[in-house]
Parts: sequence; structure tokens; C-alpha cells
Amino acid sequence: MSKKAIITGGSRGIGAAIVLKLASEGYDVAFNYSSRKDEAEALVASLIEKGAKAAAFKADVSDFQFAGNFVTQAKEFLGGDVDLLVNNAGITKDRSLFIMQQAEWNDVINTNLTGNFNVTRHIVGYFFKNKRGCIVNISSVSGLSGIAGQTNYCASKAGIIGFTKALAKEAAKLGIPVNCIAPGYIETEMTRAMPEKHLAELVKMIPMQRMGKADEVADLVSFLASEKARYITGQVFSIDGGLTA
Ligand code: NAP
Repeated sequence: MSKKAIITGGSRGIGAAIVLKLASEGYDVAFNYSSRKDEAEALVASLIEKGAKAAAFKADVSDFQFAGNFVTQAKEFLGGDVDLLVNNAGITKDRSLFIMQQAEWNDVINTNLTGNFNVTRHIVGYFFKNKRGCIVNISSVSGLSGIAGQTNYCASKAGIIGFTKALAKEAAKLGIPVNCIAPGYIETEMTRAMPEKHLAELVKMIPMQRMGKADEVADLVSFLASEKARYITGQVFSIDGGLTA
């Protein structure tokens, strides 16, 4: 029987690469998106064309009820036991703290950190009951070191690391691994939104002198979800071309 995975924010960027990777490995996949329906549907259509079982659902992870509805819909669509949850959905709203609006703080924390709780909370009991499952959370190097202009984002991503480590200890005796990936600068719309000059300066600081690719993050998710990684839990894996070395 196929393995089954739920991925948040799977419509584009890193999430889409994770969806594609897992589907190429034979997983049935269900993912959500917040507003870009066309991109989500195009991805599902391309997966179905390749013979995969895939569906996308519109759901804002920052809302506890919507997140719960998404998990229910995803489980129904996938049928049978879910093997993997990837909490990937995330946003940035960068601004120096002294001019940051409360809404910019709340939006980022509620999507990135509380969104992680909202989705996981709706599936963790099911994983525990089945003594089966695996969770991979997407944090960031911004959760490991501070970046000016990103107090909201850094706090949310550092929070995901704490969340991962604590949940890993709750889930360990059931054999359920919970890990975290901390990507550096990856080529997606999130980084394309940064001023080109600023990005070029950042790339100079990366020991490998290039940005990462979404596929490279997806490969790491695939490894952490695999049987080969069953004794790894509560860890943070940077994938950043040496940035945090
Ligand atoms: P992206 O290209 O902007 O894609 C973000 C994805 O999240 C989209 O699928 C988007 O859906 C979804 N999303 C946003 N807000 C949501 C919400 N409230 N509810 C549900 N889905 C929501 O971002 P990315 O660069 O791939 O980043 C993916 C993850 O990696 C994020 O957690 C990000 O913080 C993290 N990360 C990225 C980088 C990087 O350099 N790119 C580095 C470190 C960490 P729509 O398409 O509908 O908007």
C-alpha cells in the first residue's frame, strides 16, 4: 500500500518541491494552500497525469478550525493510515521592530508558529493512537540566528525549533520521529521578493556561494521521513550551503 503524506503550503516553492518529491517516491499526497488556487490545482493536475494520487485543499493554517477541517479532509482523501506530516506553510512580513505593526507580528507568528500547532494538534492524537507517523517541521536559519528586520519571523522559526524538540520527547516512546529543517536562502518566491542587491550581498556570505534549491530541501524531508532515519528525533538540520557552519 502507498504511503500517505500531508503537507502544508504545498502549492509552490519548497512545499511544492516536497509534494513532487514524495509523490515521485510513491506517496499519496494531500496539501493545502491559502489563496493561490490555480497554482495548487495545476500542481495536482500534473501529479495525477503522472499517475499519483493527489489533492489540494484551501485552508488557512493560522485558523485552528480551518486547520482541523483540512486535516479531516486530507485524511478522508488519503484513506488509511497517514504516515507523514510536513509543516511547511510560512510567510514573512519583514520590518524593523521600531516600525513593525502589530498585525505584521501577529500574521507571521499565527501562520508560522501557531499554524504549526493548529495542524499538528489535529493529527498528533491520531499518530499516537496508531503508534505510527512522522513529523517534519520547516523552520529556518532565521530560527537559529537573529536577522535584522525579522524579529517576527525569527521568533516564529525559533519557536518551531522549541515546539519540535518538546513534541519529539512526547512522541519518542511511540516511535514517532519529530524533526526540524532549517533552510538557508532557497530560490523561491519568498526570497525573490527580497531586493536583488540585498540578495546578491547575502549570496556572497554563503560559503558555497549560491542559494539552495527547493528540491534540495525536499530531498532532506524525504530522508527524514524514510525508514533510514527512524532513530533520529528532536533534531534541527540546517541546509544552507555552510551559512551557519
Ligand atoms: P513560498 O514560496 O512563499 O510558499 C509559501 C507556501 O505557504 C504557499 O504554498 C502558500 O500558499 C502557503 N501559505 C502561506 N500562508 C499560508 C496560510 N496562512 N495557510 C496555509 N498556507 C499558507 O515560501 P517558501 O519559500 O517555499 O517557504 C516555505 C517554508 O520554508 C516557509 O515556512 C518558509 O518560512 C521556510 N523557509 C524558506 C526559505 C527560503 O529561502 N525560501 C528559507 C528558510 C525557510 P499560497 O500559494 O496559497 O499563497
